[in-house]
Amino acid sequence: MELSVKKRKKIFLLFFLGIGLPSLLLGYFAFRGIQNDQALLEKRRLDDYRRAAEQITSSVDQSISEVEQAFMKILSDLNNSGERDFIQPLKDFKNQNPLVEETFLFRNADEIRFPAAELLFFPEGSLTNSAVSSKQSALNRDFLTAQLLEFRQKNYQKALSSYQRAMEQTNDRQLKGECLNAIARVQKKAEFLQNAITSYLSIIQDYSQIRIADGIPLGVAARFELGSLYLDIGDTTSAIETFVELTKLMIHREWLLEKAQYVFFSQALKKSIQDIFSLESIPSEILDFKETCQNLQSEEISQRERTEKLLFFQERAATDIQAKTPQSFSDLPIPAKRCIVEIGRNVYYFSLLQRGDGKQSSPQDRLGVLFNTSYLKDHMLPKILLNHVPSDKTSWIVLDGQGQPVVTSQNTLSSTLILKTNFAGNFPDWTLEFYHEEPHLFESFLTSRRSIYFYMFLLIGGILIFGLVLTVRAVSHELELARMKSDFVSTVSHEFKSPLTSIRQISEMLQSERIPSEERRQKYYDVLLEQSERLSLLTDNVLNFTRMEEGKKEFEFEQVDLSGLLHELISPIQDRVRHEGFEIQVEVNKTLPSAMADSAAISQAITNLIDNAIKYSGEAKKIIVSAGIENQYLNISIQDFGVGIRREDIDKVFDRFYRGGDELTRTVKGSGLGLTLVKQIVEAHHGRVHVESEPGQGSTFSIRLPL
Ligand code: ADP
Repeated sequence: MELSVKKRKKIFLLFFLGIGLPSLLLGYFAFRGIQNDQALLEKRRLDDYRRAAEQITSSVDQSISEVEQAFMKILSDLNNSGERDFIQPLKDFKNQNPLVEETFLFRNADEIRFPAAELLFFPEGSLTNSAVSSKQSALNRDFLTAQLLEFRQKNYQKALSSYQRAMEQTNDRQLKGECLNAIARVQKKAEFLQNAITSYLSIIQDYSQIRIADGIPLGVAARFELGSLYLDIGDTTSAIETFVELTKLMIHREWLLEKAQYVFFSQALKKSIQDIFSLESIPSEILDFKETCQNLQSEEISQRERTEKLLFFQERAATDIQAKTPQSFSDLPIPAKRCIVEIGRNVYYFSLLQRGDGKQSSPQDRLGVLFNTSYLKDHMLPKILLNHVPSDKTSWIVLDGQGQPVVTSQNTLSSTLILKTNFAGNFPDWTLEFYHEEPHLFESFLTSRRSIYFYMFLLIGGILIFGLVLTVRAVSHELELARMKSDFVSTVSHEFKSPLTSIRQISEMLQSERIPSEERRQKYYDVLLEQSERLSLLTDNVLNFTRMEEGKKEFEFEQVDLSGLLHELISPIQDRVRHEGFEIQVEVNKTLPSAMADSAAISQAITNLIDNAIKYSGEAKKIIVSAGIENQYLNISIQDFGVGIRREDIDKVFDRFYRGGDELTRTVKGSGLGLTLVKQIVEAHHGRVHVESEPGQGSTFSIRLPL
């Protein structure tokens, strides 16, 4: 036992040194490989992202610079011209560069003006020609009389003819317009609605740009009145047409309006249009206007927001600009200073440039270009980003100065932030963040080089475990065999020794003629015979086993009369064991056919089985040997009613040197070779041996030989 433990330890040590250790080393290198690979991959990815970010920010910077340079060129072309000459080139410049929201003049350090701005409306009091109060009408006698008749006496007939006279007598367009307007108004009051319509139509045609008191253009007022008149006479279609046209003209800046004027008319128009659409019965053709109205409304909203944003800038930005801009532009690399000014909820991004050579020029001569950040956000940046993102696993977000998202990619942001970067010169003051979607663990194994290492790892692990199991099994098996062999040697020597001893003792006794009775002597002869038979069976078993193990055993097949063979075999055994009280019952058909067999070998196999039956019979001294034909097979079975075989032993009893583990069985002498030989012999005859056993009840061994 001691020895086997030592051996086992030695084998495991060898296994560990020869296979385990190299495998572990290999595994370690594979693991390091994975780590290095990963680090390299991450570094390469970061480099890609850095490059992309660099390209993106410099691309934005480039676009801004281009705008500044173009602006500078216009300024140098217009070096000595007055403000009026600016308007067209600036308009063109704006139209050619979608990144330009507006251009402005920064004068006297406190005044901002938009020379080329197309604004929907202007600040209160900024339009000098709006305060028109017609001197002509105040001087015209007929006009004054007509006003008296209209407002005091409410004599509309007379007022009408008085206004008509005033109109005929004057050549002044302003007064003519005012007269026609008054005529239309009185016609309406006098309920000459058709006439009023005609009058308003001719105002629209001829006096559209004339402004009446409060500076309201006649074109606006007349169209609004006309629309209402159409409604009064029930012509909804013409009414909506007129209102829509007026809205369109106002959005397209047909007239310069101050904010209050614009807001008044645009709200009145919106309400009138809404009223028409909510009428109970409206002609179907009006529905066609619905879409136009919606489009006009959204256009109006965006223009109004833009106008308000610019006016807000005009009103409030001057001090900020003054604070942020340098006194002289001459030390700047390019004579443009990029600024960000935050007023209220609005953030303005602009470049301020110096007109002239920058040296002797005064701060009056500064011009600015306001950038269109909506265009940058919605059109330029997404396009640039899409062109430069390193992979389709990239998602990105641009955040403004307050950390609010400006632009985000279509795909959702995944968790790994790879890179965060600012724009060149922090203009705009936004940050760009790149995220990279990590592939699923399984997917990354499938696609990356790491998978090779992983599989290698797995393979090595598998081989290790497999090798370990094999080694353990082989070692255990060999050790078990070694144990059984050593058991065998000791039991076999014992087996040899005990019959030899009894033979020797009996022989001595017989020789000394100390046995008086003949009957007694006869008994001793029987014992002598039995012991020598045992010895010869044992020798045969050992010899045959060795031969078979070495593959040297040769069988001599011949026709054998099995019935005769069985009777010949059994009767001496019966004689031998009768004195022990054994009864061997033979149930063999006399007409058994003969079979091809090696009679000596078959005899040995059957003798072994009967010998076992005797050995393991215990107190039940009955044995049945039977033989018969079954489905082209010869069936020989030996049944005893003895100790039986334990369940755990039943599959092993035919193994070499195997002896039953039962204590009871152990008391019986044996070599563990008998059944092994039976099996080898039967299989050499192309037959099979089979056992059925019940512990305590007995066992039946059957041999099946093909006929
Ligand atoms: P042994 O020399 O030990 O009998 P065998 O190969 O003939 O060797 O038998 C192997 C084992 O099978 C025995 O040790 C015994 O445990 C069991 N065995 C064989 N025949 C019988 C039987 N008839 N009844 C009970 N056990 C048996």
